[in-house]
This record gives sequence, C-alpha cells and structure tokens, in this order.
Amino acid sequence: MRIHHLLCVLYCWGVPAALCAQLDSTALKYAASITTDDLKRHLEVLASDAYEGRDTGKEGQKKAARYLREAFNAMGIPAIPVEEGISEGYFQPFTLVQDRSGSLSLTTGYDTLQWLEDLFYIQENISGSFTVDQLRYLGRSNEWAGTTKDAVVLMRSTAPATELRSNLRTWTDQARSASARLLLVAQPGLREEFSNSDVNVPHGRLRQADTAPRPRSGPQVMVVDDAVVDALLARGTWAKLQRSRKPRQVSARFTVHHDPAQLQVHTENVLAYIEGSDKKDELVVLTAHYDHVGVEKGEVYNGADDDGSGTVALLEMAEAFAQAKAAGHGPRRSILIMPVSGEEKGLLGSEYYSDHPVFPLEHTVADLNIDMIGRTDSAHAGKDPYIYIIGSDRLSSELHAINEQANRLYAGLRLDYTYNAADDPNRFYYRSDHYNFARKGIPSIFYFSGVHEDYHKPTDDVEKIEFDRLRQRTLLVFHTTWQLANQEQRIVADKPVEKPR
Ligand SMILES: [Zn+2]
Repeated sequence: MRIHHLLCVLYCWGVPAALCAQLDSTALKYAASITTDDLKRHLEVLASDAYEGRDTGKEGQKKAARYLREAFNAMGIPAIPVEEGISEGYFQPFTLVQDRSGSLSLTTGYDTLQWLEDLFYIQENISGSFTVDQLRYLGRSNEWAGTTKDAVVLMRSTAPATELRSNLRTWTDQARSASARLLLVAQPGLREEFSNSDVNVPHGRLRQADTAPRPRSGPQVMVVDDAVVDALLARGTWAKLQRSRKPRQVSARFTVHHDPAQLQVHTENVLAYIEGSDKKDELVVLTAHYDHVGVEKGEVYNGADDDGSGTVALLEMAEAFAQAKAAGHGPRRSILIMPVSGEEKGLLGSEYYSDHPVFPLEHTVADLNIDMIGRTDSAHAGKDPYIYIIGSDRLSSELHAINEQANRLYAGLRLDYTYNAADDPNRFYYRSDHYNFARKGIPSIFYFSGVHEDYHKPTDDVEKIEFDRLRQRTLLVFHTTWQLANQEQRIVADKPVEKPR
C-alpha cells in the first residue's frame, strides 16, 4: 500500500487535489510497467528488416506472430484452449484467397503470345476464351469517338512503361465510358520493365476464403509488348497502322484464353486472453494490426508507426494487466488483447474475428483499437501532446465520457476529434480494425496520431518514433481499458449502428 500511496503522491504533484482524489492507485501502479524502454525494445525487433515488413501470409508476418506469442507466453498469459477451427492456442488462423491471372494467352493462326513472356499486364480477369476478328485502332491521338459498344480496342502507348500504371487508370476509364469489351495496349519497353516477374501485375484483392468473389464489371484490359503486336495482325499491318493518324477498323484473328488461378494465403490473428474475475464472461477487446505491406523492389517497409506502434502498445498493456492479475488485481471483466493480421489488405483479420468470434460478441463490451500512435503529424508540429479520437461517441456516450475522464486523470493529452466528424473526407472511421466491431454494434474507439510523410513508405522506421508520446498515448488506452473492465455496470450502447456512408 505504501508504494501505491507514494506513486499517487508523485503523480499528484501539481495536480488539483479534487482530481487526485479520483485516481486509482492500483491502476497507476501497473501503468508504471508501461515504459518507453520496453516499447522501444519490442519495436526495434518487430520493425527491423528481419521482419520483412510483416506482409500478410509471408514469412515476416509469421515471424512477428511467433514473436508476439512468445512475448505473451513469457508474461504468463496462458494460451486459449485449442478448439478445432476456432483457435490454436494463441493463434486464430484464417485463410484468404486472391484471384489471380492464371495462364493467359493470345493465340493467332501461327503464334501464341504467352503470359509473362509477351503479355505482362492485365487489369481485370478474363475468364475462358473468345475470338477476336475485328479491332478498332484508336489512331495516333487516341481518339475514342466512334468506338462501338463491345469493341476490341487497340491503342499504342507513347509514354514510358514506368508510367503504365497511372496511365492505365485513365485508359480503363475511357474504355469503360466507351463500353469497350477489351482494351489492348501496345506498350514499348514492357518486357524490360516487367522482366518476367509478376511482381507488378495487379492481382485481385485478397478476400476471406469463405466469401464469393466480387463480380467483375467493366472493360478487360491487357497490355502487350509493342514488339509483339504484329503477331496479332496480318503481317506488316502494325507498322502501317502506326502511321495512321485517324482511328481505323482492322481485321485480326486471335483467341484470348484465360484460366484464372487462385492463390491461398494462410495467416493468423494473435490472441492474449486475460480472464476476468467476477464478470469474466464479459470482455473488453484491444486491437492493433501487426501486419504491414512487406517488401517492394528490395526495400523493406518496416511499418514502425503503422502499426508497430500499436502492436507494441498492446504488448505493454498485456504485461501490465498480466502483472496486475498475478498480484491479485486482475480485471473483473476479461480482456482480449488481439494483434490482428490482414489489415493492410482490407481489415481482413478483424473482419474474420468479428464474423468468427472466439468469445461471444454479445458479451463484448468494447473494442479499443490502436493504429499509428507513435508520431506527430503536421497539424500538431511543435504543439502539445495530442491524439486523434475517432468513433468514441458513435455508439456509446458512456464510452466517450470514460475515455475523456481517463485522459483527464492519467494521460493529459489534447484529444483531437477532427477525424470523428461524420463528414470526414478521409473516412478514417471506416478504415481501421475497430470498424469491424462497430459494424456489429460494439462501442469502439480508434486511437491515431495522424499520417505523416513516411506513411506507407520504406522510411516508416523506429528512429522516427517519439517514444514519450507513444507511452503517453498507451496510458490513455490502458486506463480507459481498466475502467471498462472494472466498473460495476457494463457500458451502455445508446446509439444505433450507422451504415457506412
Ligand atoms: Zn495501419
């Protein structure tokens, strides 16, 4: 008790007596285990190059999952009993699929252009076969006027292959407006740029294995190397066509054939479950995504802030609650600390959990989600410590009030509600893992320190993390959790679930 008292006295230095009387000295004692040193020690591992940007399903993400499991185990948090198809101890495994270009070819009378040899790029999947006997060439100035519905259109790119991706967006829109069936782009230098690797091929988005693919609409777009277009037309035609200023109809004869392929990606959420005492059937969930975007062109996207910062905050809170429990001060309600995967692919780990919950959602009191809390954005440069609070009042006024109270008593941050505006053009409320809980009616908060110049760049590194701020923000989440888990009445959700706008 002496130590509690001492901490309280230290903490209350300069704090008005009325406020100080409300401080929970037990909570403060365990909050003290959340340190900048520990946050840094964990982040230096998880955001190191050895973790290869923690891309969902890849070795770096698996390695991070093992690191988190080992850390929770070392804290004395036991694994969840294994239940077939539900949990594997500390892991909730799930499978994602990606629809990919499988084998794609263009067959002419005397030649076959093969995927990744002469054809390198495809915008939409083409399923099955169809034969083309008429092409509309758009001419040197790419004139779409006069293109008829369902036409197969040929155009030549005059821009370098490095600009292909951004150009394709425009051309695809044009092809869509013209209701073309297939747009063939002849791109000079395509082979050199994509050098027999499918790294730059846009694949379909990852989705849950148990959901149907999204129906594809709009034009199909294929890019072929400029040097091979001749093979699709009568000999010598391509050279002649390129001199043509005006759009022209040309006859052609080739068959497009495509067998789409599917890639399976196996990944996992990590679960640290701290069982409560007299209200253990009720649950407070803490989430942060531990995946990031991996490696691109040899550069590791370390994701120290996104979302290494949230992940290490979870580790530190897990340790604090585990220590409290070991000393007989465990939470009354249970706490599930869950670093999730698949966030960067479309909030897929939290989506899977919320559709296949390990603990009943009707007993889930709240989700507090952290996604990037280690930096300062330009709006707050040179100003006092702050945090963006998103969603706290959308489903429960009480959650909002508890978070504000915890901040007043324990964290002293400036709470910025800019991104909580219903008409926030960034739509951040829908863009992190809390939303998968909110959509199920579970009151949620998204804690965020904003975007910065290293957002989704290989330079989102540990050296740029402000550990004092990271700790201070973690304390806010910790004390809010403490209150949610320990107060007599479960918080009330007094507002209806909103449909995404
Ligand atoms: Zn993120």
